[in-house]
Amino acid sequence: MESLEKAGLAVNYNKLKETKPESLSSKVYIWDETLRDGEQTPGVALTINEKIEIAKLLDEIGVNIVAAGFPAVSDAEKKAVSAIAKEGLNKAIVAAPARAVISDIDACIDAGVSEVPIFIATSDFRLKYQLRMGREEMLERLTECVEYGKDHGLIIDYIAEDSTRSDIDFLCDAYKHAIDAGADKICVADTVGFVRPRVMTHIMREIKSRLWNESKYKVPIAVHCHNDFGLANANTLAAIEEGATYAHVCVNGYGERAGNAALEEVVIALEELYGVNTGIETEKMYRLSRAVERHFMIPLPLHKAISGDNAFTHSSGIHSHGQLTHSMTYEPINPLDVGRRREFHLGKFVGRHFVEYLLKMGGVSATEEEAKEITEQIKTTHEDIKKHQSKESFDKIKSDLKNLRTGVSEREFWAIVFEVI
Ligand code: MN
Repeated sequence: MESLEKAGLAVNYNKLKETKPESLSSKVYIWDETLRDGEQTPGVALTINEKIEIAKLLDEIGVNIVAAGFPAVSDAEKKAVSAIAKEGLNKAIVAAPARAVISDIDACIDAGVSEVPIFIATSDFRLKYQLRMGREEMLERLTECVEYGKDHGLIIDYIAEDSTRSDIDFLCDAYKHAIDAGADKICVADTVGFVRPRVMTHIMREIKSRLWNESKYKVPIAVHCHNDFGLANANTLAAIEEGATYAHVCVNGYGERAGNAALEEVVIALEELYGVNTGIETEKMYRLSRAVERHFMIPLPLHKAISGDNAFTHSSGIHSHGQLTHSMTYEPINPLDVGRRREFHLGKFVGRHFVEYLLKMGGVSATEEEAKEITEQIKTTHEDIKKHQSKESFDKIKSDLKNLRTGVSEREFWAIVFEVI
């Protein structure tokens, strides 16, 4: 793109002064949640070795914080987190979350992690229905837990669950209580992926105006977004535009329900569209995506950005021809930058120019008529294949995919119930 800009042949509005977010930091840290929120993808249950392998890959590509799991969930989970903490990642900090409950923090301490994000909700309805406590009691609990964590030498963050549906005064009050008690960072959580990017901007500005004008409250802000409306990446970037410096992401956008913000998509957007340094070795992201996909056994959609099979595949004649004349024609990201290769798909949309290119590459000379004939035959062959492909075989593949989502069926649930009772 840069050479086209210099030659005056393309405009990059992403670089205009007018579109540059004023509060954008030049450095954003990647906080990976794949082994915690990501593992909550229905059907996923990783072994300790799989977790260690993923943690090492995350460390290797340059992730700053690896949330390794949720030690309070079970002894097995605590063991897995502890194994990753013991492994001693090269650069990344190993973190594990805790509810605002002392025993959860103890589980993190036992697991040997150095950073503990403590979460407790700030929205009134969660306080009323989920936690069954008033605002005052919640603040006391938060203070006690943050202090406890700091007394044990941990880096402590405060994640306000459901931040984006909370009364802004109370939300900021909670952040201040956490910081007063020693919290090192705070996190804005769009727990159910509910807000629009413009709303995320508004909330960030409100938080900054209440906190950042006092130096003692000027701590780094992290952002944690879910994808229920397909806006997790957009909301993450909106918060970063307002000065958030830690992005919670999951490899491949995995996570409960519709998932979390996707590591590879947020990283490449920050690097390429904002010029922000993430410290991630982007060429290694694809290998990580594939490894996590294989261990999660949740197949990626073919058309998924960056890591989907089709993400760098050109199929139409016009596009393929365009690619051959200038790579930026239909390709905004250099595939090599994200560890991919450009591919061409031969099918009903193939064009003669592309066929001629393939012939030339193969050292075959052909007349224009012959090239036309070859092109036609490719089109009809593809159409024939398509005609004979049954919808039933597709349905079978779909149901096989659903079977990958392992778990306890309703029948097995009742079998367990009657065995116990
Ligand atoms: Mn989450």
